[in-house]
Amino acid sequence: MKIAMVGSGYVGLVSGTCFADFGHSVVCIDKDPAKIEALNAGRIPIYEPGLEALVADNVRQGRLTFTTAMRDAVAQADAVFIAVGTPSRRGDGFADLSFVYAAAREIAQSLSGFTVVVTKSTVPVGTGDEVERILRETAPDAEVAVVSNPEFLREGAAISDFKRPDRIVIGAEDERAAEVMREIYRPLYLNAAPILVTGRRTAELTKYAANAFLATKITFINEIADLCERVGANVQEVARGIGLDNRIGAKFLHAGPGYGGSCFPKDTLALVKTAQDAGTPVRLVETVVSVNESRKRAMARKIIAACGGQVRGRTIALLGLTFKPNTDDMRDAPSLSIVAGLQDAGARVRAYDPEGMEQARPLLPDIGYAADPYDCAEGADALVLVTEWDAFRALDFDRLKAIMAEPVVVDLRNVYWSRDIAKLGFSYTAIGQKMNA
Ligand code: NAD
Repeated sequence: MKIAMVGSGYVGLVSGTCFADFGHSVVCIDKDPAKIEALNAGRIPIYEPGLEALVADNVRQGRLTFTTAMRDAVAQADAVFIAVGTPSRRGDGFADLSFVYAAAREIAQSLSGFTVVVTKSTVPVGTGDEVERILRETAPDAEVAVVSNPEFLREGAAISDFKRPDRIVIGAEDERAAEVMREIYRPLYLNAAPILVTGRRTAELTKYAANAFLATKITFINEIADLCERVGANVQEVARGIGLDNRIGAKFLHAGPGYGGSCFPKDTLALVKTAQDAGTPVRLVETVVSVNESRKRAMARKIIAACGGQVRGRTIALLGLTFKPNTDDMRDAPSLSIVAGLQDAGARVRAYDPEGMEQARPLLPDIGYAADPYDCAEGADALVLVTEWDAFRALDFDRLKAIMAEPVVVDLRNVYWSRDIAKLGFSYTAIGQKMNA
């Protein structure tokens, strides 16, 4: 199959590369010339484990190319995927679909022969109808079908998620288009990945329902963690106790500083708006959104409390800035609210992140950036573990104790055991455990 991938960000680049690896012929398109220039020079503009080698391999085999020009790639394609951003719209929080519609308008100008246009971006219910309207209006004679194929990959594990998905959802109103999609995903289908063919609106909503459910699960355990702290219980043991129940499942039950990232915050908000507009508010998700928002800020207060209630003029060292490990993505990371809260209280903030510092700099221009965890902790009044990168899982606490001004550790990811750290003479605060255990 010949595939054109419009948008070569986290999703477009990973999906396009994996499709090429299945044996399809893929052109990845982006309107950002710097991105395409980098890709053509063999540089990957994002950090995603395994991606560089997979891109290089498929480029070498002649199955994967990059361009800023849509025309030829779209004209020759059996399927054109739209994988552009759908950020929150300023003001009302609804998904900003301007990139999707602009891409649709541009695609329409180059269509030739029967083409399936696939929205891979996360888009609200009914967006496929509007994309179809734009295509038919701009290219009335084109033979085109619009399909929804939401993406469920996770940054940091994107390639294995794409190649071994729990399921593939295809929302198609047209059997010929569904056949093209089955052919594209056939290599996975043969591996027994369940493929669900639904109506287009159902597929669009499935993505939001999935993300809202996961965000709810995280928020649920976060609130239980707060309760644990009050009543002297341990949230990790509670999570294990409930997670072993198959009806609940153990995943997404790790209490922490609140969910962040490029998907959950904007997708939960967009679902809330869609539901309000449809006259059936999803109150549970509305609550999840507001609980999570206040939680991120509350983490700064937790750190301040661990420092004895006052951080003015003190240095707080943060380990991890990205919203989760194994990515450089800083979009809506909890660290942003934590830094703001600490700076508002007068603290000096220094941070270290294995991959995220380049993306963090423009967002957090007035913090210090360290070369490694120990450089970060040097002379600090508290060390805060914000993101659970592997590099932070076996820190040398004797060394930390020797170089820090105060032996205070706040572990927002429950990576360590309170007893082990407290034994070394640290004041240790974690999530959902008795305060200052
Ligand atoms: P991104 O910002 O990393 O990439 C989007 C790319 O599209 C950018 O490089 C941009 O330059 C390009 N672009 C925008 N308009 C274009 C146009 N008209 N022509 C060509 N290129 C254009 O975004 P992302 O994280 O890859 O997300 C894309 C979509 O996938 C979003 O809807 C997101 O919600 C969804 N999604 C993301 C993830 C994730 O983990 N990042 C997972 C599942 C779904």
